Order: sequence, then structure tokens, then C-alpha cells
Amino acid sequence: MTEANETEGPYDYDVIVIGGGSGGLAASKEAASYGKKVLVLDYVTPTPLGTTWGLGGTCVNVGCIPKKLMHQAALLHQSLDDARKFGWMFDEQVRHDWGTMKEAIQNYIGSLNWGYRVSLKDNAVTYVNAYGEFVGPHKIKATNKKGKETFYTSETFIIATGERPRYLGVPGDKEHCITSDDLFSLPYCPGKTLVVGASYVALECAGFLAGLGLDVTVMVRSILLRGFDQQMANQIGDYMESHGVKFIRQFVPSKIEQVEPGTPGKLKVTAQSTSSSETVEGKYNTVLLAVGRDACTKNIGLSEVGVTVNEKSGRIPVNEFEQTNVPHIYAVGDILAGKLQLTPVAIQAGRLLARRLYGGSTVKCDYVNVPTTVFTPLEYGACGFSEEAALEVHGAENVEVYHSYFWPLEWTLPSRDNNKCYAKVICNKQDHNRVMGFHVLGPNAGEITQGFGAAMKCGLTKEQLDNTIGIHPVCAEVFTTLSVTKQSGRSVQQTGC
Ligand code: FAD
Ligand code: NAP
Repeated sequence: MTEANETEGPYDYDVIVIGGGSGGLAASKEAASYGKKVLVLDYVTPTPLGTTWGLGGTCVNVGCIPKKLMHQAALLHQSLDDARKFGWMFDEQVRHDWGTMKEAIQNYIGSLNWGYRVSLKDNAVTYVNAYGEFVGPHKIKATNKKGKETFYTSETFIIATGERPRYLGVPGDKEHCITSDDLFSLPYCPGKTLVVGASYVALECAGFLAGLGLDVTVMVRSILLRGFDQQMANQIGDYMESHGVKFIRQFVPSKIEQVEPGTPGKLKVTAQSTSSSETVEGKYNTVLLAVGRDACTKNIGLSEVGVTVNEKSGRIPVNEFEQTNVPHIYAVGDILAGKLQLTPVAIQAGRLLARRLYGGSTVKCDYVNVPTTVFTPLEYGACGFSEEAALEVHGAENVEVYHSYFWPLEWTLPSRDNNKCYAKVICNKQDHNRVMGFHVLGPNAGEITQGFGAAMKCGLTKEQLDNTIGIHPVCAEVFTTLSVTKQSGRSVQQTGC
């Protein structure tokens, strides 16, 4: 660091980005493309078990990428079963090797980590593998893994530090449990697994572990997928249950004890009912905690510079320009209060922020109608309002829901899972039957939802859906022929096989 005047400059950098994940990398490369001097600090604090990873943040290392690849490994298991019905004959006993899958995924992630480093270099962004902490309004301390401290100054800062998995705070959790931060690089097959939690991370991990053939139980504190359309959430739960995942509902762990060491060892979990004094016990090889994530805003010196943090959530409130209450400090990604925690959202916000700061743009990040997909065994794609939210905001008299079950052609020969895939659109009767909620349960739900998300951005109405000619035979065509309203009470079950 130079001996700059800390409050007035000149500064070492135009912008320092704290956090080299989805949001931070997007913002830094975009800022550099305008000729700005940019520094990115990225540092991964090891998990309690010592797991750590490379540049790129949650999505690449311990999120979307390894999750979707493990989901794919599980889907292939189902495809192997289906294949026999399509005439494929193989005699060997089918078994899955965790080590092979894990190694292939980790090698791929390694290549992505390398790619990020190269692309920062190519974009003239300085990358330092060190932990950043504000020590003054325009000054940051960067501590590397050897404990060496370096100080840098900058005119502007972008905080993009993301979140890390939460622990339960009960005896044995940090010593014996793993989180998604450990799972994807676990050197051994987790074996019989208890997944604690019932949101995205929990259900996706439970789904692919069961799909790989493991004995999986999910411990649910209250409901599945809070915040999502509950009809869809419950159908996901039913599907998982019918495919071998066990659910223990309305219980939370109170103690985790090691019964046997090993890889995996054996753990005893004691759990407490949320509605009575009942307790249950169970033995598992692995306990995966997926009980939410805490924003990494505690130990980065925010109080030193006066950045407001929401006391309860630990997240940072920003205005529509992703600006914190301190004008030269911005924030993007998972740490934002009241925003969606998804990779493309962090990337979009980071990129647009840099364009506004340095490219003369006025375009703001639009957080409305963001499509998303939950990669449970039966994938769930959604965009816009849940049915509950639509009814609450617009009133039952102004909401029309069209729906139907559908049976993917590919599933008919294997004769499986009829009346499990489901399509629903929620329309606003007061506004030309505009589609304000889109929901699909079925294979490739993400691929389906992406396009309809674009249509919703363009103001899609039910009439336009009806006027769209379907593609046959694909799952998504169901959305062009939805004719039964929920209100009519008519059956939408598919008969025939
Ligand atoms: P991150 O990507 O978390 O990056 C923050 C970076 O900052 C990290 O590298 C962190 O180590 C570093 N850091 C933290 N503090 C400091 C500091 N003081 N100094 C220096 N560096 C620091 N989203 C999707 O869109 N699709 C999915 O399918 C999906 N699947 C997911 C699956 C799982 C299991 C999880 C956990 C998340 C998933 N997500 C998914 C969410 C997605 O990963 C996040 O929304 C996204 O990574 C957020 O980006 P970010 O830039 O805010 O933070
Ligand atoms: P989350 O959405 O905050 O959900 C936390 C879950 O843990 C809830 O089911 C909650 O139950 C439960 N829980 C909390 N405390 C508990 C306790 N003490 N005991 C038992 N259960 C407890 O967290 P998340 O699943 O980690 O996801 C975090 C974010 O990552 C999401 O908001 C999402 O945006 C992102 N993500 C996206 C994807 C994707 O795009 N496919 C995938 C994964 C994650 P209650 O309902 O009772 O509170």
C-alpha cells in the first residue's frame, strides 16, 4: 500500500471488491473493462472440519455447480432403470462409486478456479487471496493465510462476501456434523444420512443422496420450502417420499453424539418435537446440517466505517443502486437484505453496478420475476408469485389459477410416476389475465422455466400463452393448453397410460 491520504486520496485503487464469488467477480471484471484500477480480495475461511476451496465463491465450489452435477449423477441412476424398458440389456449389478464422482466433480471445479484466476489476470484485475476487513473509511486490511497483513486504500468499495452455513448451536453439531460446504468434497461416501432442514439446500442434497442409493432421512422443523408455493413444495415432498426419502416432521436435533469414529463413522442424534415433549433418537453415518446460511458481515469492520447491517438477519440494506448508507460503499449478492440469493442475481447486480459507476449507465438491477429452479429429484421451476402470495396481495376474486398434471412421454414406457408432474399458472384477472406466477414440476424444469421467465418479463398474458403453438411432444407444451381453472374444481389428473 502507498502512504496515501486515507480520506482524500490519492488511493491505491479505484475500487476494491471484497469477495471473489459470483457478484464480486462480475463487478470487478466489469469495472476493469472501463479502465479502472481494481483489486479483488477473496478468502475462504475453512469449515470446522477444515474444508476449504479456491477462487469463485459458493456457486462454483460448494453450491450450484457440484450440486447440479451430483443431481445429474442421481438422475442417471433413474435413467439406468428406465433404459431396460427401452431395450437396453446389461447384466452387471449397478453400483455407484462416490470417490469417482467426487473426484471428477472436484477436478472440474479446479479447472473453473483456474479459469477465474486467468480471467481476472486477462481483465487486469488484481487478485489477492486474503481476508478483507475495513479499518478506515477508505482503508482495508488484507490478511493472508500466513497471517501477513497488508493495507490498501480505495475510492470505492463493493462488499460481496456471501454467506456461510449456519450451525444449530446444540452439543456435537460443529464436531460431528457436516454442511454443504463439506459435502461436495467429502472423501468418503456419507452412507446413511440425516439431513436437517427443509429448504432448497436440504431437499436438493437429500434428493441426490437418495438418488445415489443412500438411506436418507430429512428432519423438518416446520414446512417444506418456506416462501415457495406450498402446493408445489408438498408435491415435491410426496415425490421424494414415494422415492424412498424418509421425513421426520416437526422435530429438531437437540444433541449429536459420536458412537463410532470412521469415514463415515456412526452418530447418534437425539431430537426434540417442536409441539410436545416427545424426543426421538436415531443412528446415522452422516448428519448434514442445511438450516440456513449466515451473511458474512460480522468480522469485516462494518461498524468501523458505519455501514448499517440489519441486526436480525445480518444482511446489508441497500438502496436501488446497491449503495449502502455509506455513499462510497456498495454491496451485491447474498448479503443484501430482502433480495434473492441466487448466482445470476448476484452477477447481474454486480455487473450493472459497475456499469453505473464507471460506464455512464443508469440501468438498475430488476429483482422482480426472477426465475429459479429447485433441483430436487422432481425438479421445480418457478417465476413470480406463489399462489398464496397472489391471493394475499390481489385477493381471491382477482386471481385465476390454471393447472394440469402431465406425464412426460419419456416416463410412459417405464410406466412410472404418472400424475406427479404438474403445471400451474396464476393470472391477474384485473390486468388482462397477466401471468403473475409460473410453476412447473417435472424433468428439466429449469430449462422450461428460463424461457417462460423471459416471456413474463415481456408481460405474458394467458391469452398469449393460449395463442402460442406448442412443441410436441415436450413437457412445456402443457403451458399452451391449460384450460382447467382451480376454481372449477374439475379433475386435472391424467388418465390412460
Ligand atoms: P459468494 O459466491 O458466496 O462469494 C463470496 C466470496 O467472498 C466467497 O469466496 C467468500 O469466501 C469470500 N469472502 C467472504 N468474506 C470475505 C472477506 N472478509 N474477505 C475476502 N473474501 C471474503 N444459486 C443459483 O442460482 N442456483 C443454484 O442452483 C444454487 N445452488 C446452490 C446450492 C447450494 C448448496 C448453495 C449453498 C447455494 C446455492 N445457490 C444457488 C446460491 C448461490 O451459490 C449464491 O447465491 C451465490 O454464490 C452468491 O454469490 P455472492 O457473490 O453473493 O457470494
Ligand atoms: P433457508 O432458505 O434459509 O432455509 C433454512 C431451512 O432450515 C428452513 O427449512 C428452516 O426451517 C430450517 N431451519 C432453520 N433453523 C433450524 C433449526 N434450528 N432446526 C431445524 N431446522 C431449521 O436456507 P438454505 O436452504 O440454506 O438456502 C439459502 C439460500 O441459498 C436460499 O435462499 C436460496 O436463494 C439459495 N439457494 C438456491 C438454490 C437454487 O437456486 N436451486 C439452491 C440452494 C440454495 P423453517 O422453515 O422452520 O424456518
